[in-house]
Amino acid sequence: MSETYRNLIGGKWVESATGTTFRNTNPADTSDVVGTFAASGPADIDEAAVAAKAGFEEWSRIPAPVRGDVLKRAGDLLTERKDELADGMTREMGKPLVETRGDVQEAIDTAYYAASEGRRLFSYAAPSELPQKMGVSIRRPAGIFGIITPWNFPIAVPSWKIFPALVCGDAVVWKPAEDTPWSAVKFVEILLEAGLPENVIQLVTGFGPEAGAPLTTHRWVTGISFTGSTAVGCKIAAACGEQAKLVSLEMGGKNAQLVLDDADIELALEGVLWGAFGTTGQRCTATSRLLLQTGIHDEFVDELVQRAEALVLGDGRKRGTDVGPLINEEARDKVAKYVRIGTDEGANLRTGGEIPADKRLAGGWFYRPTIFTGVEPAMRIAQEEIFGPLLSVLMVENLDHGIEVMNDVRYGLSSSIYTQDVNAAFQAIDRVDAGITYVNGPTIGAEAHYPFGGVKDTGNGHREGGWPVYDFFSDLKTVYVDYSGRLQRTQIDT
Ligand code: ADP
Repeated sequence: MSETYRNLIGGKWVESATGTTFRNTNPADTSDVVGTFAASGPADIDEAAVAAKAGFEEWSRIPAPVRGDVLKRAGDLLTERKDELADGMTREMGKPLVETRGDVQEAIDTAYYAASEGRRLFSYAAPSELPQKMGVSIRRPAGIFGIITPWNFPIAVPSWKIFPALVCGDAVVWKPAEDTPWSAVKFVEILLEAGLPENVIQLVTGFGPEAGAPLTTHRWVTGISFTGSTAVGCKIAAACGEQAKLVSLEMGGKNAQLVLDDADIELALEGVLWGAFGTTGQRCTATSRLLLQTGIHDEFVDELVQRAEALVLGDGRKRGTDVGPLINEEARDKVAKYVRIGTDEGANLRTGGEIPADKRLAGGWFYRPTIFTGVEPAMRIAQEEIFGPLLSVLMVENLDHGIEVMNDVRYGLSSSIYTQDVNAAFQAIDRVDAGITYVNGPTIGAEAHYPFGGVKDTGNGHREGGWPVYDFFSDLKTVYVDYSGRLQRTQIDT
């Protein structure tokens, strides 16, 4: 018997007003039911926003360093429960334990960073143009934030948003992905245990159109922080635009790894295997294009295909598993659809392109790591985000051609170049249109304390991680103090 979980509103675990629920299953074995969760609707969001309003009144008055102490305790609890959480997360979304442990570690790093930010949250001061007058900007809590998150990093991505929001003094209504509600419940339990006052965070589970959309239009919600697909992100931005809400979007990618002839080939091979097939290719930073310079192309592909075929597919909770399942049937169908598209476009299917024959994998959403060669830049498999274990290999003549192909997509999240030539590396840093460029490392592997985000259709200019995210979740008030005892007219009496 699996457990039934409820929403958290106003510090209490409550049933959804809709009275309906949904079951969440293990993508490696769909007969394993993780739990039953509330399929919430607009009335639940409304109740959550009312509670968050009360939570904001209280929490925003607590000094930031004290708020930071709560996050320090949350980081300690995440550390204590790292293995137990990772196990449940793998059961819920499939990626191997080594990766879900990394997911929790990222949240731990983010918690400690946010905790220390409670004693910093610097703003700016500048000299006034008038005598006996001071000008300074101070940070204030911004309000109630709607947090809408995906399933591929069930704890890390929410932590990037929720921890900074909390240390800034905001209240939160969180609608996690429908595929990872268990992880969300555990995350919120930790925050409560860490001493977060009731009402400051509300958890409302359910589906996008029913539970996510009403959050983006609720009058008391100050802003939305979203990670997910570009299609949904743009809808959310439109809804937020109607009411002048803040909105931070982290969306699709079509990330490329460029390998020049002079690269350390072994390093580049390890990088692309990890970048393309880690998390079954389901990271927004996953390597979905490999650009190989002509001189190394054939040899590199032969070796890569062999290594991709040696990757062990299976339940991420079993030792020795390299690649887990896709998240659900729809995701696997999407990969299969792109295999047909790539084949029809004339690309050469070198390996994969099918559901594994192994009967032990029949209960889950597995798909073999897939590599296409002979891919041209205009093909759909070189342009569209697939979010699965499908790698498109393109041949490029030189650095300039490589950068041109790299930039020839609508997205701009992550990028990577493998070369021993320092000039080539710096050319790429200058000219690749992406929010992240790795030199001699794969396209995945963001650290919690650096800005994370992308350009073009990947985002709307905001960054998560590091210091810029604190700007999104706080307001700046400028304060002028005139202690001259007379009227001083700015721009006139100077
Ligand atoms: P993914 O491709 O990663 O599943 P989605 O963009 O579909 O990305 O979903 C990301 C998050 O956005 C999920 O929590 C989902 O429920 C939510 N979502 C989906 N549609 C909407 C919508 N119309 N309004 C608000 N949230 C939505």
